[in-house]
Amino acid sequence: MIDTTDVLIVGAGPVGLMLAAELKRDRVNVRLIDAHEERTFFVKALGVTARTLEIFEDLGIVREAIDAGVWLTGAETFQDGAPVFSAQFPREGMPYGALSLAQFETERVLEAALARHGGHVEYGATLVDFAESGDAIDARIQHADGELRTLRCRWLVGCDGARSTVRRHLNGRRAGGGIRRTCAAARGSPRARSPYARRLYRR
Ligand SMILES: Cc1cc2nc3c(=O)[nH]c(=O)nc-3n(C[C@H](O)[C@H](O)[C@H](O)COP(=O)(O)OP(=O)(O)OC[C@H]3O[C@@H](n4cnc5c(N)ncnc54)[C@H](O)[C@@H]3O)c2cc1C
Repeated sequence: MIDTTDVLIVGAGPVGLMLAAELKRDRVNVRLIDAHEERTFFVKALGVTARTLEIFEDLGIVREAIDAGVWLTGAETFQDGAPVFSAQFPREGMPYGALSLAQFETERVLEAALARHGGHVEYGATLVDFAESGDAIDARIQHADGELRTLRCRWLVGCDGARSTVRRHLNGRRAGGGIRRTCAAARGSPRARSPYARRLYRR
């Protein structure tokens, strides 16, 4: 017999987790899968905006997010060691400011909210492909034990990032694939030597 759900969300990054938590809160029958065997701790997105924090407040997770982050008061850009751009992030008149929050912390907090609403991430489950017939979509999912199983759903939501399998199967529309650019992400101590770095962070 084929397993069924109303909504299948593919990808448990911030987008998939937020959607799953909100749908579970509304008592929608939803499953959330992710190809990773467990949550990863690679730092990608480094911050969330004031508007995101307002949405977190509605979801009841704003305190947890703030406790895991660092308020940003401004940004300084350097080129060859010399400052080239400076901006301040004013907070006056706003309920929240800009919060530096590592993406894995955002995901941890969202995953806890999902759990409070009775949901969980099915790790080690990779969407391989899917086929539509009438009102149903049959999604073929490869599981960590090597088994390929079909899950039938009414809605399939692709939250599977830049190299999205879902988009690729929708005739390659906005297929993605990444931008070739060198960049670096790091976590460091706010007690950095630079006076600029010290000014940017305030607990
Ligand atoms: C180095 C780096 C630095 C970044 N810095 C910033 C920043 O400072 N600020 C900012 O706002 N953004 C930043 N970003 C972008 C940010 O990370 C993305 O916007 C964000 O991750 C998008 O979230 P998402 O949930 O859509 O997708 P993702 O976080 O990419 O999550 C997609 C999930 O889908 C899963 N998945 C993929 N394919 C399948 C499949 N076939 N089956 C099952 N699961 C699948 C993946 O395992 C993954 O967990 C950065 C990105 C990178 C790479």
